[in-house]
Amino acid sequence: MVRGTTGCAREVLGYNRPPLEKHPESLSMAGRLAGKVAFITAAGQGIGRGAALAFAREGAQVWATDVNAGTLAGIEGQDGIRTRVLDVTDEAAITKAAAEVGPLDVLFNCAGFVHHGTILECTPRDWDFSFSLNVKSMYLVTRAFLPGMLNKGRGSIINISSIASSIRGLPNRFVYGATKAAVIGFTKAIAADYVKQGIRCNAICPGTVDTPSLHERIAAFQDPVKAKADFIARQPMGRLGTVEDITGILVFLASEESLFATGNAYSIDGGMTI
Ligand code: NAD
Repeated sequence: MVRGTTGCAREVLGYNRPPLEKHPESLSMAGRLAGKVAFITAAGQGIGRGAALAFAREGAQVWATDVNAGTLAGIEGQDGIRTRVLDVTDEAAITKAAAEVGPLDVLFNCAGFVHHGTILECTPRDWDFSFSLNVKSMYLVTRAFLPGMLNKGRGSIINISSIASSIRGLPNRFVYGATKAAVIGFTKAIAADYVKQGIRCNAICPGTVDTPSLHERIAAFQDPVKAKADFIARQPMGRLGTVEDITGILVFLASEESLFATGNAYSIDGGMTI
């Protein structure tokens, strides 16, 4: 449902149109990340995978990591991409990865999990799992890679938050929203501490994006058709975001184009925050 806009007006405004089909070869290859080393968590599918491909296309040397070796295999061997299996809750494995990879220019903390439910449906175990995967992982990974960035005197850290956070409360996103609000606080704290040392730290807050885990969430409903329509209706633009809708801002934040930006939480959400 688009607030204050008739169906006819929506059509005229193009809100009902599907997103432009973007063929990888038609996307920019301007070398905007040439010479940069980037490390991405949860790059096996969804937004993390899209970021790995987009960063590599723009000339970065990308370390694409994920806990799932099977999905990572899908991007292994692509130009500019090396893959490693990494569980972002495993501190020892993160330390080992940081030693292997060396100093970074760009760190994209993308790993996260969506718990469905209210506070009464969230057990202490659910709470701990979500905070461990969505927040503590970012602390562990950033802590491991930050010294290398400080030695270089520059670096861009990008953390994935969500519209469901301190930006908006959404139904059945109790612990998810709490973790993603924590990501924004985490981002701002790092930005404040290292702003004078060349480190930038920003968060992105997507609306609903068409990724494999969204499909799983939709399939888990008793009425998946209605569930999908409800997810679409959350965006006033009347559609789900695509991974490519999100990778543009990630390239921008990773690149020199955003050198004056730090400590921000960028909403990219089909109008959810209008
Ligand atoms: P997804 O949920 O489909 O995939 C998640 C990936 O994380 C998988 O490849 C999985 O193997 C990996 N992963 C899970 N546990 C891990 C661990 N312990 N260590 C390393 N990797 C692990 O992808 P998505 O929907 O693009 O979500 C990615 C991020 O974007 C998440 O943090 C999510 O909260 C956030 N986000 C997604 C949406 C959306 O609508 N899809 C919206 C806002 C924010």
